[in-house]
Amino acid sequence: MRKIVFATNNKHKLIEIRSIIKDKFKVLSLSDIGFDNDIPETGNSFAENASIKSQTIYKQFKLDCFSDDTGLEIDALDGKPGVYSARYAGEKSTYEENVNKILLVLKGNKNRKAEFSTVISLILDGKEFQFEGRVPGQITTEKRGKSGFGYDPVFQPDGFDITFAEMSADTKNKMSHRGKAVKKLIAFLNEEL
Ligand code: IMP
Repeated sequence: MRKIVFATNNKHKLIEIRSIIKDKFKVLSLSDIGFDNDIPETGNSFAENASIKSQTIYKQFKLDCFSDDTGLEIDALDGKPGVYSARYAGEKSTYEENVNKILLVLKGNKNRKAEFSTVISLILDGKEFQFEGRVPGQITTEKRGKSGFGYDPVFQPDGFDITFAEMSADTKNKMSHRGKAVKKLIAFLNEEL
């Protein structure tokens, strides 16, 4: 089976991606290839950050690889937290602190519209390709559900009356931002390889 590196240290993302593309590729993590450093996300967009991560790994290891950059954009906050989603409540903030800050900042606000976006940057034989996935939804007024990670307990995708954290992993993966971007990635790889 062909190997591909997923340039992330996020265990949740790795589990999600492995379960989505398990039949096609052996997905190696950064620790599998002995890369323990943090890759600073200094870009101004999901696309730039995804590219920084995959290019860093490609330059050092010359292996086929991909990375994803994801964030939550909230209408009433002019698109924030966006590229700052991981550190919305501070540099080393936890998922819970970030979620609590969102609920506090949006308290009493009727406009709960938000969107999750993922950009995947793939480097195949040294050439970069990008794939995007988006899911519109609403920020709930309280946390609901225990599955998933990050902002899942407060994000209810349009067309559903449950949050990502109330869904099974399978249901979330089928319709999530990352799931959609990965589907495009797989279609591309199937055509290309
Ligand atoms: P990253 O920069 O792609 O690692 O993602 C930034 C932040 O977005 C993470 O720290 C999480 O808080 C959040 N995030 C990413 N993907 C998801 C998801 O699928 N559900 C909920 N939150 C997510």
